[in-house]
Amino acid sequence: MEAKIVMSGIRPTGFLHLGNYFGALQNYVLLQQQYPCFFMVADLHSLTTHPDTKELKENVHRVLAENIACGIDPNQATLYCQSHIPETSELYLYLNMLAYKGELEKTVTFKEKVRLQPENVNAGLLTYPVLQTADIILHRASLVPVGKDQEQHLEMARNFVARFNHRYGIVFPEPHAFNFGSNLIKVPSLDGSGKMSKSENQNATIFLADEDETIRKKVMRVKTDNGPTSEQTPKPDYIENIFLLMKLVSTEEVFNQFEVAYNNCTIRYGDMKKQLAEDMINFVAPIRSKAQDLFANKKYLQEVMEQGAAKARQSAKSTMEIVRHSMGLNY
Ligand code: ADP
Repeated sequence: MEAKIVMSGIRPTGFLHLGNYFGALQNYVLLQQQYPCFFMVADLHSLTTHPDTKELKENVHRVLAENIACGIDPNQATLYCQSHIPETSELYLYLNMLAYKGELEKTVTFKEKVRLQPENVNAGLLTYPVLQTADIILHRASLVPVGKDQEQHLEMARNFVARFNHRYGIVFPEPHAFNFGSNLIKVPSLDGSGKMSKSENQNATIFLADEDETIRKKVMRVKTDNGPTSEQTPKPDYIENIFLLMKLVSTEEVFNQFEVAYNNCTIRYGDMKKQLAEDMINFVAPIRSKAQDLFANKKYLQEVMEQGAAKARQSAKSTMEIVRHSMGLNY
């Protein structure tokens, strides 16, 4: 049996955050040691919501630097920029003929984006899951490490793949959202109103580039209450949120200590938030400093992109030969 291939991407729409790390990057780092991996900076995807390209180059460089700072080894995984692979656009075109307007309009992320940017409901936004499918299957990947927000897109990718394979012969494996056998992760925003995100809800998101003091301020602002008054009270959502975040960055011992304090009604949320802030700082600070150094080294980032593009194009070209042949576009 052929080795499974891994593919995933992150949009260059701002600074990376704890959601990107725990939803995606953490798994990229583990997977690169076990599988052939393709990790991409999804610059074309960013155009669906960020048509102004003034800061795009800087953002592409930053996402690359942050990927590497989080542990991606560009000599092991193929780390590249989406727009450097023109084959993506060709496959996207073919897949668009197999995607229906009705199903695209029903996509939750599409409806959410329409609500957020009613003045720019472009066709790229509607067909976002089609482009994403093209990115994945261009390398005939089947394992897609992503956060919970991407679950529906992967379900759609499986539908598009099934239609392609049914109509033109079996070319692509079924792609699946992947998290080492566990449920996909959603890192909530600090105010509990949604998920941490690069471009929305910035004050409730902890970025991997945030300074220590910024992290302290953001965490200390998190909503709490006077604490439970009777033992074993179920946690309200906004308190559950703080525990969830603590589970990601604190030690098990620290987490358990606050869990016990909650259950016997001795918890002091001020102390809990201070601890959470310090643990987040300990997590973020080394990544921030590595990313800053890498970001300053433009020559190195350029080399990484070129090396990645060469490897990704090789894989894309071989897939597209098979695709054109199976579609009968070989005259
Ligand atoms: P964003 O929504 O911040 O712009 P992207 O759309 O570029 O991020 O997503 C990049 C990866 O990070 C995807 O795999 C996505 O599922 C994951 N991700 C983004 N936000 C979160 C979050 N809050 N929790 C878990 N995973 C997330």
